[in-house]
Amino acid sequence: MNQAANMATKGEPSQPQAVRFDLEKVRSDFPTLNQKVSGHDLVYLDNGASTQKPQQVIDTIKAYYENDNSNVHRGIHTLSQRATDKFEAARVTVQSFINAESDAQIIFTNGTTESINLVAHSYARAFLQAGDEIIISTMEHHSNIVPWQLLEQQIGIKLVVAPIDKNGNFLLDEYTKLLSEKTKFVSITQLSNALGTITPIKAIIEAAHNVGAKVMVDGAQAIAHTEVDVQALDCDFYAFSGHKIFSPTGIGVLYGKRELLDAMPPYQSGGDMIKVVSFSGTTFNELPHKFEAGTPNIAGVIGLAAGLDYVSDIGIANIAAYEKELLDYGTHRLSEIEGLSMIGSADNKASILSFQINGVHASDLGTLLDHQGIAIRVGHHCAMPVMEFFGVDATARASLAFYNSKEDIDALVAAINKAVMMLK
Ligand code: PMP
Repeated sequence: MNQAANMATKGEPSQPQAVRFDLEKVRSDFPTLNQKVSGHDLVYLDNGASTQKPQQVIDTIKAYYENDNSNVHRGIHTLSQRATDKFEAARVTVQSFINAESDAQIIFTNGTTESINLVAHSYARAFLQAGDEIIISTMEHHSNIVPWQLLEQQIGIKLVVAPIDKNGNFLLDEYTKLLSEKTKFVSITQLSNALGTITPIKAIIEAAHNVGAKVMVDGAQAIAHTEVDVQALDCDFYAFSGHKIFSPTGIGVLYGKRELLDAMPPYQSGGDMIKVVSFSGTTFNELPHKFEAGTPNIAGVIGLAAGLDYVSDIGIANIAAYEKELLDYGTHRLSEIEGLSMIGSADNKASILSFQINGVHASDLGTLLDHQGIAIRVGHHCAMPVMEFFGVDATARASLAFYNSKEDIDALVAAINKAVMMLK
């Protein structure tokens, strides 16, 4: 067992971190991590874009296609019933993972982007009108900006942007000043993909509720790094994607408060979301099916449940504690590199090391790191407004998961030093 694995398993007396999992075992669960890229052991540090999948998720999907493959909800035959049972059991797994009141409040979408669009098109179009204000923040992902901008053009709502400071902290006081009786909706990330900032989401929600506004939380990044309890948060909507939490692509979740989901009109229409269809009129299905038109991503849903079970077995608190230690280590090691500046050093941060190096373009750096087997992301991270705020067009971003180790960070630092020597 290597040093990092040893630490992750046992902890060291001098570092009282609450890490209680076997890192080596965890790493061996992820087949993609065990490969060479450009002749080097792969170091995967692009988890903010998408995470790798454990064998348990891959096996679950394979077993579904090998044994149970069929359409859900409509079939009388055995395979369809098995598929339906697994599909609906997965909904309960999601419900319990985020502590939703009921599984009827778990809507399957194809990802965070679709979850946000669902709320923009169904809730906001039905319940907001011209002049109403929607607050987002400077550090939102494009998928939590553009749907609201379209509503600005289409129904005349006004988009208001809550500021951050130069370290990437969400400015709660400034945000509170923006709230008024005109504020009808707030949509804010719980963890910024570009900066790693953890926002004070509970306080954001509480302040919005004080003026009667509803709140959507973009949990795309947070879901894999922090405990999420939608009832404790008291959010009105919560969105996340499976592929950011060790589960398949093409599957996501929208949680909503029951009375809101009940009142909302359907988003897409077709099969499964109806009760009775006739040419004189159609009635819609109960929750959650009202929002799930057409054949769903059955394997994706079942795979998502396997991914969430995997995370639950390790424990999100263990994951968060270990990643905090890795983040601190990475922040320290990167700070030793000459000319490197961190973009985003919020007081409360997770999983993201976003940086720039004087005289080195991020995309050149990313290419040279790939030649050394190190996968990071370079660019604007679908968050161009926050790049503009920091006066940069791109950053290099290493984003961590619990299968990363201190050795991965050491490899990153060594590879950066080598790349910088070549580029300067
Ligand atoms: N919000 C945030 C904060 C994200 O990081 C992402 C994905 N990078 C999204 C939304 C969109 O997620 P998806 O592409 O899975 O729909």
